[in-house]
Amino acid sequence: MKKYYLLAPGPTPLPPEVLQALARPILHHRTPEFEALFARVRGGLRELHGTRGEVLILSGSGTGAMEAAVVNLCSHGDRVIVIRCGKFGERWAEICQAFGVEVLALDAPYGESVAPERLAAALREHPEARAVLATQSETSTGVLEEIEAYAALTRAGETLLVVDAVSSLGVVACPMDAWGVDVVVSGSQKGLMCPPGLACIALSERAWARVGRADLPRFYWDLTGERAWQARGQTQFTPPVSLLMGLDAALGLLRAEGLADVYRRHARLARATRAGVEGLGLGLFAKATPSPAVTAVVAPPGIDGEAVVRAYGEAHHITIAGGQGEMRGTLFRLAHLGYVGDFDVIVALAALERVLAGLGHPVDFGAGLRAAQKALEEA
Ligand SMILES: *Cc1c(COP(=O)(O)O)cnc(C)c1O
Repeated sequence: MKKYYLLAPGPTPLPPEVLQALARPILHHRTPEFEALFARVRGGLRELHGTRGEVLILSGSGTGAMEAAVVNLCSHGDRVIVIRCGKFGERWAEICQAFGVEVLALDAPYGESVAPERLAAALREHPEARAVLATQSETSTGVLEEIEAYAALTRAGETLLVVDAVSSLGVVACPMDAWGVDVVVSGSQKGLMCPPGLACIALSERAWARVGRADLPRFYWDLTGERAWQARGQTQFTPPVSLLMGLDAALGLLRAEGLADVYRRHARLARATRAGVEGLGLGLFAKATPSPAVTAVVAPPGIDGEAVVRAYGEAHHITIAGGQGEMRGTLFRLAHLGYVGDFDVIVALAALERVLAGLGHPVDFGAGLRAAQKALEEA
């Protein structure tokens, strides 16, 4: 027997409380019992988003909620600004282009982010831009984007700020109402400690006003119809009821820990991971602010990042993630989001020492662990 560890940035491990909830008998979705569950989950999600507005629950992966945002907010021929510094920023642009929405891309090299000053200039140059699409935690590069600063630029004007928080919800704060963020999309399989399959979209009042005027085609993702159903305590179509029971349990765990402590835990584990990686003489891929969800590590010279990922899996039964797209082979990613604690970081780093040694890289055994342990003690 080899114990299995899941340390990838989604799906993430599930707490026992969530697993038990998932195993409960199914509820029918047109019953008062379901309505009570659904109301509780929607209330918990509102808290998590820091909004008194509407949070809709959708059946699909995070990308489904991204598409729902585009087709409900945009019209054919609209122009939008896309903050693009990784694979998920690129996905925003691809979705827009698929629907005939014109993309004005603000690009930064992988590992970097787009300074708020650049967005300010783009908004001055393109006051007609209908929305800014950004990614709070760019999971592909391990960079945290400056959503609060972006919101400070958009909230006074007509341009909406739409944020992909798939890997940051429940990991780092994104208080919609306080910051003035218009739309937040997320998925269940990352910081929310649930299986994949549920997505969320939260919309401000001014985003709803836009939904009324947007003319892109939509049926399954029609949020106007969905809003009316969810206000009555049900979903328009059959939801993954078991996943909602799991999400109810997960939101209960987040509430019991306290959101401020949830965010502190993630920041601390991320700090310790970075300290451990640097303690081994390896470099961080993120040059901008690193994400508290995932640490992208530059593969040392002569070592293929994919070989690191394979060795974690084959030699140690640990799933981590490699580089996406053009970054394949140049980096590997250690996740620390969701149901994670101090010793998940220790496992990831202890295995890293063994993996690197196994690949012929000189390793001072314990150097990564020593640095991480110190960081955990100090924090
Ligand atoms: C995981 C992820 C997504 C969504 O991916 P799905 O596979 O569709 O759930 C979107 N954005 C970011 C930043 C992610 O990390």
